[in-house]
Amino acid sequence: MLEDVGTREKREQMVEYQIQERGICDPLVLSAMLTVPRHLFVPDTLITHAYEDRPLPIGSGQTISQPYIVALMTALLAVHPGDSVLEIGTGSGYQAAILATMGVTVISIERKEEVLQIAERNLNRAGIRGVSLVRGDGTVGYPSHAPYKGIIVTAAAPKIPDSLVNQLDDGGRLVIPAGDRYIQELILVERRGDRIIQTMHGAVRFVPLIGEEGYLEEYDL
Ligand code: SAM
Repeated sequence: MLEDVGTREKREQMVEYQIQERGICDPLVLSAMLTVPRHLFVPDTLITHAYEDRPLPIGSGQTISQPYIVALMTALLAVHPGDSVLEIGTGSGYQAAILATMGVTVISIERKEEVLQIAERNLNRAGIRGVSLVRGDGTVGYPSHAPYKGIIVTAAAPKIPDSLVNQLDDGGRLVIPAGDRYIQELILVERRGDRIIQTMHGAVRFVPLIGEEGYLEEYDL
């Protein structure tokens, strides 16, 4: 069953029609999206939908992001093999798997224990190495391993957390959806010496980032 729906052909179509046609051409990103078996990161009941052009529920009110959004955020991060990246919001583990497949060292923080366990199972069954999973509030980052070349936040923040900007390396990039609960702007924050540069990359919709520098607990789904 897992092999039936997880063909290379489905990934080739996903990459060509959902990602390349929308303008993403970074070869490292495309190659990782072709390689990682996305169907191993969705619940078994949704496996036949794994390669569709949309996010899917993964349990506990959380989601695995749409393939295009994963590719877009990864391309904006513009990291290279050997770089260290902090991910906030492990979810299914799929985004972390894409980064690890690109040769990046990933620390991924998830606030929900049951979601973290799902991610661990998914990463193991997909044979992904190079991801360290941490349970905690990622809105304050993970200072013990800072600075990071890339920080990717895969939940909707009310504002850009100062802690995350402070943990960016020189030349480092933070990709984060920020806005209200219903619609956010995908923002790229770059640190260049003492300068912090922000650019906007379109409207997105994510589940809320909950924590000290995020939304209050009551916003949990
Ligand atoms: N990157 C994931 C993937 O590839 O499947 C999708 C992440 S899902 C859209 C957002 C995740 O962020 C949820 O699992 C949620 O529990 C988590 N989250 C929300 N607030 C958080 C916080 N303060 N720290 C860490 N994780 C958080």
